Amino acid sequence: METIKKKLNALLDLQAIDCQLDDIARMRGALPEEVKDLENELTALQTRSYNTQEELANLEQEIVTRRVSIKSLEALVKKYEEQQMSVRNNREYDAITKEIDLQKLEIQLAEKRIKSAYERIEKQKIELEQYQVFIEKSQQVLADKQEALQALIGESEGEEQKLNEQRRKVTQHVDKQLLKVYERIRKNVRNKLAVVVVKREACGGCFNKVPPQKQADIKEKRSIIVCEYCGRIIADVIVPPEED
Ligand SMILES: [Zn+2]
Repeated sequence: METIKKKLNALLDLQAIDCQLDDIARMRGALPEEVKDLENELTALQTRSYNTQEELANLEQEIVTRRVSIKSLEALVKKYEEQQMSVRNNREYDAITKEIDLQKLEIQLAEKRIKSAYERIEKQKIELEQYQVFIEKSQQVLADKQEALQALIGESEGEEQKLNEQRRKVTQHVDKQLLKVYERIRKNVRNKLAVVVVKREACGGCFNKVPPQKQADIKEKRSIIVCEYCGRIIADVIVPPEED
C-alpha cells in the first residue's frame, strides 16, 4: 500500500516538473522548429547551387573539348583536300569527297553542341544567381531567428537546467514500467498530462465523471488506477472546499 502511494507521488512530482518544462518549450513556441526547417532549406539550396556550379564547370569543359576536336577535324579536312589534288581517278576523288563531307558534318554537329552548351550555361547562370539571392535571404532570416531563439533560450536556460536536474533525480524514484506508461500517455494526450487527480468528481484530464466507488479506490491508493475515458493515471482525489 505504501509502495503504490510512493509510486504515485513520484509520478506526480515528475508530472509537475514536466509541466514546467512544457511551459518553457511553449514559450519558445514554433521557433526551434522554424530554425531547424530554415537550416534544412538552406542546406538544400546550397546543394543545388553547388550542383549548378559543377554543371557550369562541366559545360565549359565540354566546350573546350569540342573546340579541340573541331580543330583536329578541320586539320583532317585540310589534309583530305590536299590529297584530293593528287588523285588518280574519279573514284578516289569521290571517296575523299565523301570523307570530307563526313568530317564537315562532324564539325557542324560539334558546333551545334557548343551552341547548346552556351545556351545551357546562360540558363544555369541565371539559376545560380537566383540561388545566390535565395541563399542570402535565407541566411539573413535564419540569423534573425537564431538570435531570437538564443535570446529566448537565454531567458530560461538556467531554469531549464535546474528542472532537468530535478527530473533526473525524480525519475530514479519512478518505477521503470510505470515511467514507460507515463511517457506513452504523455505522447498521446493533447495537454501532455499523464497523471491527474479527481477534482469536482471529474477526471482532471478529460473532465468525465468518475464514479464514487472508483474515487474511493483511488483514495485508498492500493493500485494504479486509470481513467476509463482517457486512460490517464488518476493519482488522487482532491476535494475542494464547498463553494455553494
Ligand atoms: Zn479522463
